[in-house]
Amino acid sequence: MQNAANDYDAVIIGGGFYGVSIATYLASTRGIKRILVIEQEAQLMTRASYNNQARVHNGYHYPRSFTTAYRSRVNLPRFVKDWPQIIRQDFTKIYAIARRNSKVTAKQFERFCSEIGASVKPIDASLKGLFEPHLIEKAFLVEEYAFDSKKLCDWATSELNRLNIKILYSTRATQIRNLDTEQLGIKLISNFTHNHVIKTRTIFNCTYSGLNQFSGDFRSLSSKLKHEITEMALVKMPPELSDLGITVMDGPFFSLMPFPSRDLHTLSHVRYTPHLSWKDNFGVDPYLKLEQYNRSSRTDRMIRDVSRYIPSIIKARHIESLFEIKTVLTKNESDDGRPILFEKHAELPGCYSILGGKIDNIYDIFEKLDTEILINSPIIES
Ligand SMILES: Cc1cc2nc3c(=O)[nH]c(=O)nc-3n(C[C@H](O)[C@H](O)[C@H](O)COP(=O)(O)OP(=O)(O)OC[C@H]3O[C@@H](n4cnc5c(N)ncnc54)[C@H](O)[C@@H]3O)c2cc1C
Repeated sequence: MQNAANDYDAVIIGGGFYGVSIATYLASTRGIKRILVIEQEAQLMTRASYNNQARVHNGYHYPRSFTTAYRSRVNLPRFVKDWPQIIRQDFTKIYAIARRNSKVTAKQFERFCSEIGASVKPIDASLKGLFEPHLIEKAFLVEEYAFDSKKLCDWATSELNRLNIKILYSTRATQIRNLDTEQLGIKLISNFTHNHVIKTRTIFNCTYSGLNQFSGDFRSLSSKLKHEITEMALVKMPPELSDLGITVMDGPFFSLMPFPSRDLHTLSHVRYTPHLSWKDNFGVDPYLKLEQYNRSSRTDRMIRDVSRYIPSIIKARHIESLFEIKTVLTKNESDDGRPILFEKHAELPGCYSILGGKIDNIYDIFEKLDTEILINSPIIES
């Protein structure tokens, strides 16, 4: 890898929301000039940053992880202020507590919301009528929003363009090495045929499901990861549900949310959305695994189960399903928390791996970058 052709001040591997946001932060806040984003797909943000439930979390989802709930409460107002053009607030959001098999009762949920300072209000009789009272203990009106993933992608493309950040599409990073020149070398395969090597002093590995899939001097992360192949159904809701988002807590239940970029709803179900899961392992490429997976939909089972709680959903029409890999830290399997992962690679000085558990965690990453990363370039005061 000695004959590297190009030099960059920073290279970001992965053009999802995290990779793009870090690239824009480096350019606009830290004044870094020569930045490159490498993306294996033909466009930015077509993977987890598009194929998700588009929920801007406000804490409600995490009664078993106070830290995640609290950080969501802190991050949501900033996210709404920084990306106003992608936020959808014009729908009614309900959290309902199941009578049986729930890990929290309605009383505990109310107490938890008050502890994190999140508003819960009683729902009116017409909304109450949507739920089967034998199965739902209580339902609350809450403040939770959705985001438009297509608009987020449009923002990413225009922002990188505006900041003159170079992007290599259809290019996969396969190897990271220490070079004699105290630089790092990244081996790339472009358009799946052409091999080349680039040099840099700083690498941000923002590859979500691909975080550990590098050869060379790269050593696996010390935090353990788990991958799931997930299915989220895109459905056309009947009129009585079309202006609503509903999440039933806290156990083997479901969530339906507006999906603004398609003018449809996503429907996810704790029992049916995860199709397959495995522990992360170098050499088992999650993207390839999904490509080879037989995507047979479980939407009919989701709708049948949800209709026991909300009978009118039986009239929903399945349009298609979004299949994606969800990557989480194994340490959060029991509490469902979604903290960030930020690891420095001792074996590759200047290389950092980052996993954002959810979109609004980006501010937790910016804080890490502010305090922990020194790059040889002036910090521009904003
Ligand atoms: C089913 C599901 C539901 C979710 N629901 C929500 C939700 O409602 N709200 C919320 O806030 N979060 C949600 N999340 C989490 C959220 O989607 C992620 O936290 C976020 O998208 C991660 O962004 P990212 O940039 O790290 O990942 P990605 O958007 O996946 O970006 C990583 C990029 O790296 C590229 N890449 C990978 N390997 C390489 C390589 N070797 N070389 C070049 N490029 C590479 C990939 O192609 C991809 O574009 C959900 C996730 C899933 C899967």
